[in-house]
Amino acid sequence: MLIDLDKASEVTKLQWKGYIKNILKEMLNVKMKEECRKTKMRFIEDDEYEQKEYVKKSNVTTSKQIMKTRLNMINLKSNFKGSSIDQRCTACKKENETTEHVLRCEKYKKLINKDIQNYNIKTDNIENLKIISEYMNCIEGFKEKNNNQND
Ligand SMILES: [Zn+2]
Repeated sequence: MLIDLDKASEVTKLQWKGYIKNILKEMLNVKMKEECRKTKMRFIEDDEYEQKEYVKKSNVTTSKQIMKTRLNMINLKSNFKGSSIDQRCTACKKENETTEHVLRCEKYKKLINKDIQNYNIKTDNIENLKIISEYMNCIEGFKEKNNNQND
């Protein structure tokens, strides 16, 4: 699906935001159907996506990041099997680099200089979800930098 950028000049900021949100929603619905049969869905309950508060209460970037985290689409080794043979955590090398692991990995927390409590990723608390999504954002940023250095 393509985003019609010409539309931006024709609509209000609020309408544009709604437009983008709808596109994102549709994209994620398609993605969810694809992912349904895979283990990436382990944080998602049936049909929970539609009514989620975080979609309504956070901005597009944040809700996208929250959804990415929940759908296990964050750029972590275990989320993209095949992308690297060694599945162990980039930071501590002790456990497999899963979403659950990076949320509690002390080494990662030090590397990205961010402390985070052991939040449950299934939480509905919007503030916690925002913190988790920001943390994941930093992890992705860190990994990206790291990859570029290795190239
Ligand atoms: Zn680790």
